[in-house]
Amino acid sequence: MTNWPVYGRISGPVVIIGFGSIGRGFLPLLKRHFALDQPQITIIEPTDENAGLMATFGVKHVKVALTRENYREVLTPLLTSESGQGFCVNLSVDTSSLDIMKLARELGSLYIDTVIEPWPGFYYDHKADPASRSNYALREELLAEKRAHPGGPTAVSCSGANPGMVSWFVKQALLDIARDLGIEHDEPTTRREWAALMHATGVKGIHIAERDTQRARVAKQLDTFVNTWSVEGFISEALQPAELGWGTHENWIPAHARTHDTGSGAAIFLLGPGADTRVRSWCPTPGPQLGYLVTHNEAISIADHFTLREGGEVIYRPTCHYAYHPSNDAMLSLHEMFGRAGKRQSKIHILSEDEIIAGRDELGVLLYGHAKNAYWYGSRLTIDEARENAPYQNATGMQVTSAVVAGMAWALAHPDRGIVEADEMDYHLCLRVQKPYLGTVEGIYTDWTPLTDRPGFFPEDIDESDPWQFRNVLVHQLG
Ligand code: NAD
Repeated sequence: MTNWPVYGRISGPVVIIGFGSIGRGFLPLLKRHFALDQPQITIIEPTDENAGLMATFGVKHVKVALTRENYREVLTPLLTSESGQGFCVNLSVDTSSLDIMKLARELGSLYIDTVIEPWPGFYYDHKADPASRSNYALREELLAEKRAHPGGPTAVSCSGANPGMVSWFVKQALLDIARDLGIEHDEPTTRREWAALMHATGVKGIHIAERDTQRARVAKQLDTFVNTWSVEGFISEALQPAELGWGTHENWIPAHARTHDTGSGAAIFLLGPGADTRVRSWCPTPGPQLGYLVTHNEAISIADHFTLREGGEVIYRPTCHYAYHPSNDAMLSLHEMFGRAGKRQSKIHILSEDEIIAGRDELGVLLYGHAKNAYWYGSRLTIDEARENAPYQNATGMQVTSAVVAGMAWALAHPDRGIVEADEMDYHLCLRVQKPYLGTVEGIYTDWTPLTDRPGFFPEDIDESDPWQFRNVLVHQLG
């Protein structure tokens, strides 16, 4: 495409925090899709790693790491340096999304991020119990702030690929299933109507089902963690407890599962790291596959948004969790790290678009348990397609940066909504913005279930009465 659409006008300064794999890919899209009244863009980035690229784009580089102590002092002048409404785009690790979001509101600026990130210390606090190291805890803090301060400048929380885009996919997939089942309905407009429609279709649960097959010519070396996006971000979430939205159809719960005493009650967690917890799932290219039940914000927010209550009682909720098969090098990196009792490798590396010789990121939602069994809807984006459409990013990055653009387009059109989750945004608008970047976007039915082709050599703890019980999805051993 050459005539790229412009999705809005940003009247004040743009401040990007972090210039890693996502920041690099995002910058050209920012310039492509938004009219900037103030030409100056500032990037807050503690390293010089991409200084050349920043210079090419003529952006101002503030070389500092934001901390709990300095973030107000650093951000305030930058976001108020010009007239107009500023936009803070948080694409860094190790900075508190919530604190920065609150400051942006105080300053009258718009805000967006791709994950609820805490200050350093949260993920690796050995004294903290697993519940307080969970994404549930991070989201509950965000929701408390949202309740305390409704409205105000829009702050979009978690508008990446997942969390983010997958919440929009769930709505499209649900409408497709309802259509194919012949369920007559108007398009839902409220949270309750969406939940009621999912209930009516008989969807029992949702996997965020991803297969990344991107690979480089040079294989992963010993003592190096290789990934297709933030290694820091991936290791942090890999070592958090596995978490999942917990559906009303489940009739068994793992012995090492725990519930939360406060908050939405939409999710449970397991007493084990998500990236060492395997689940059976399905994606179009590989068919059946094992994925990791890595904790993610969307597993909780989607389950919460599709919870149906009658008189205060929960009558319906889908199970929802990530089932992630990362790139082969990342799989080996996790294996190596867990083999060292979770001690991270001394070197880290993110595969760039130049190194990757083949593969794609296939990221979608698998809605299962209804009368047509299971339906995967998502993006199947090859590295070649990603390279064709925009510079400085691989297929994984492209799915993320285009979701940031979509979230910003929505925020500029709705600038006074306060804190907003992806599930609350107009999925039509967001997917329309994103689709040119997502390769093939399609929905595919499958007759696969977690009980398909189980070899039966050993006794298994399964429930044959309902293939879609989490008991059958979770890979667990007797004894
Ligand atoms: P990255 O590790 O490549 O880059 C992170 C950047 O942040 C680095 O350049 C680093 O120097 C900078 N940084 C670190 N500490 C900082 C601080 N205190 N202040 C300012 N900058 C700091 O990560 P990435 O792949 O670019 O990912 C960026 C963020 O996006 C991460 O939080 C990641 O988890 C998130 N992400 C979300 C999705 C999604 O789909 N929602 C997908 C990929 C990444």
